[in-house]
Amino acid sequence: MPKWTLHTEFKFDAAHLIEGYDGKCGRMHGHSYKVHLSAESNKLNPSKYLETSDMVCDFRELKWAAKDAEKGGLDHGVLNELVKVNPTAERIAEYIYKETDRRIPEGIKLTITVWETENSWVEYTE
Ligand SMILES: [Zn+2]
Repeated sequence: MPKWTLHTEFKFDAAHLIEGYDGKCGRMHGHSYKVHLSAESNKLNPSKYLETSDMVCDFRELKWAAKDAEKGGLDHGVLNELVKVNPTAERIAEYIYKETDRRIPEGIKLTITVWETENSWVEYTE
């Protein structure tokens, strides 16, 4: 069976605090988050921008989270307001997974990796 795996990376800057955290992460602060996203598929699909079935999915759809928070992304946003759960790196990865999954064709296996710092990251998949 054929298999394609798309990979893309992007960064966004955002503020958050971890509610209930006993320590400095409980106070509002910011991170430059890095996100790696992979999308695996055994078939190719059309997209919003290409009518023929020649893509796993559009890179533009995968990178929605890099957009300005005022335009539907996460950049320069307050994650506590956008993610609506306690915005740990784990929850941010889960949120990006679910929001990306509903924007792309069915049958694509996503894996989301979120770096909160250069040395600390989390991977989420379903
Ligand atoms: Zn933090």
